[in-house]
Amino acid sequence: MLIDPFGRAITYLRISVTDRCNFRCVYCLPESGVKWMPDEVLLSTDEIVRVAQAAARLGIYKIRLTGGEPLVRPDVLEIVERIKEIPGVTDLSLTTNGMLLDKLSKPLFEAGLDRVNISLDTLNPEKFKKVTRFGDFQKVWQGILAAEAAGLKPIKLNAVVVGGLNEDEVLAMASLSIEHPWHVRFIELMPVANKQDWGNGLPSVNERYVSVQIMHALLEPLKMEPLIVENSIGPERTFKVPGALGTVGFISPLGDHFCSKCNRLRLTADGWLRSCLLVDKEISLKEALKKGADLESFITQAVIEKPEGHKLKGHNCPEARHMSQIGG
Ligand code: SAM
Ligand code: SF4
Repeated sequence: MLIDPFGRAITYLRISVTDRCNFRCVYCLPESGVKWMPDEVLLSTDEIVRVAQAAARLGIYKIRLTGGEPLVRPDVLEIVERIKEIPGVTDLSLTTNGMLLDKLSKPLFEAGLDRVNISLDTLNPEKFKKVTRFGDFQKVWQGILAAEAAGLKPIKLNAVVVGGLNEDEVLAMASLSIEHPWHVRFIELMPVANKQDWGNGLPSVNERYVSVQIMHALLEPLKMEPLIVENSIGPERTFKVPGALGTVGFISPLGDHFCSKCNRLRLTADGWLRSCLLVDKEISLKEALKKGADLESFITQAVIEKPEGHKLKGHNCPEARHMSQIGG
């Protein structure tokens, strides 16, 4: 098993299969002028599978496909199918904006995907358009229902909470967990290359951040109770409204520093291993992949170099990539 110098077991790899996206969420990408990586720069299906195989040999058992939007990659079903066959990978999931789930949920399940996380920041169709710029709320809602019907369970919904935008909806969104067996997860806004003006009457930089403590205060009426999740690892904290079918979670890199529980590595769509989402330090796998070299030693090196934690509080923010290139 991979253990980093701070005693953390690294068991989880997030693979960004593309930087491309059919949305331009305000906190993730600018509205226009985004330059996608050329095809030849993106890892091929074979290369992605080889990295996943090497990771599994080192004890990584949990793999998540992300992006950009992973479902716009034409060979996403083949990637799922081939990673699912890797001995030792017992948990294969995908994070998506949900726009293409309506038609892809069933084929994804049949290809071997275990479950999906779907990003949903608001229940208001007009606001949804404003946040995602190209999204369609009804289509994403249909996608969530299609994923559930296809067996991609448990359904997890990710909402980035932004001041002046959707903080007034956290109660309604958390309440979805009462009648649905869904896990609704609130994420603090992270300052990753997204400090520019969002335009269109959207909140300014100083208004946007909402701490997990404020989210809890807004959710007070639900009287949520903390939940001890069996085998829980990773940075999330989980709660339950008494009697609810689902649960509510929080990812709070700033409000409640979570680095001591971090269990993950990230692979960017162009073949760099990143050991911390919030630190611009990466190791290239491209040459090793081209030469057919031993990938295990590179993965082990990334784990050895994994920073103890981010430095956001010292205003040391990652600037090198948009979130869509890292995969969240
Ligand atoms: N396109 C897919 C989606 O949106 O679910 C997968 C990639 S996206 C980069 C992964 C996650 O990162 C999403 O849940 C998104 O909301 C989150 N994210 C993007 N930018 C963020 C930011 N600045 N702060 C916090 N979360 C962010
Ligand atoms: Fe695309 Fe996901 Fe970024 Fe939104 S958060 S722009 S859906 S990659």
